[in-house]
Amino acid sequence: MYRKNGVVLVLSGPSGAGKSSLINKINDYIGDYYFSISTTTRPIREGEEEGVHYHFVDEDEFKKDIEADNFLEHAIVHGNYYGTSLKPVRKALSEGKLVIFDIDVQGNTAVNNRLGDITTSVFITPPSLSELKKRLQNRSTDEDDVINNRLKMAKREIQRISEYDYLIINDDLDVAADVLKQIAITARIKIPTDKINEFVQNWEDIEQ
Ligand code: 5GP
Repeated sequence: MYRKNGVVLVLSGPSGAGKSSLINKINDYIGDYYFSISTTTRPIREGEEEGVHYHFVDEDEFKKDIEADNFLEHAIVHGNYYGTSLKPVRKALSEGKLVIFDIDVQGNTAVNNRLGDITTSVFITPPSLSELKKRLQNRSTDEDDVINNRLKMAKREIQRISEYDYLIINDDLDVAADVLKQIAITARIKIPTDKINEFVQNWEDIEQ
């Protein structure tokens, strides 16, 4: 029954919430996982690498991918296109991996609609708006208007936390990482609906 099957862990939260730092802290403890590298039309930031942080493409290429139905989900965030490619996700799931997405609230809705029975979702946020502002300013990779736009988005996203299975308030990185580790380990035990149905159908006939 507890045969290996792939599952999904969605992480959402404002840029500056510390999602990447948290994943880096727990990646040695959560077993075999695949971190989904999204495709985006937003300009590459200093320190980012093609194929590591994102696949950076222009709008034409992104739209072609939409038409070819290459995305599990896609959305416009902060005025740029972002999308999750279907093919590598399918492969990782078929290999029984924990597939981790760093996507926004729209993406979470879409993933839940398509893969809800194997998905665990977590919203990660700094303790307050003012703390988020501080973190974004210290990161200093973005211009003031970009930061303001992100803060405005964060205020909107926060209103949708109740759509998530878990909330992590990333105040202390070690504590938050420990909670995320436990959630990731638990996410693996989620059993897909078809496996449950199969078990129920066979249950009466199972000889021990
Ligand atoms: P950033 O530009 O700071 O890397 O990401 C901006 C926002 O886009 C974040 O909230 C991030 O979670 C979200 N995002 C990144 N990739 C995807 C994606 O493939 N789909 C969706 N829906 N959101 C994404």
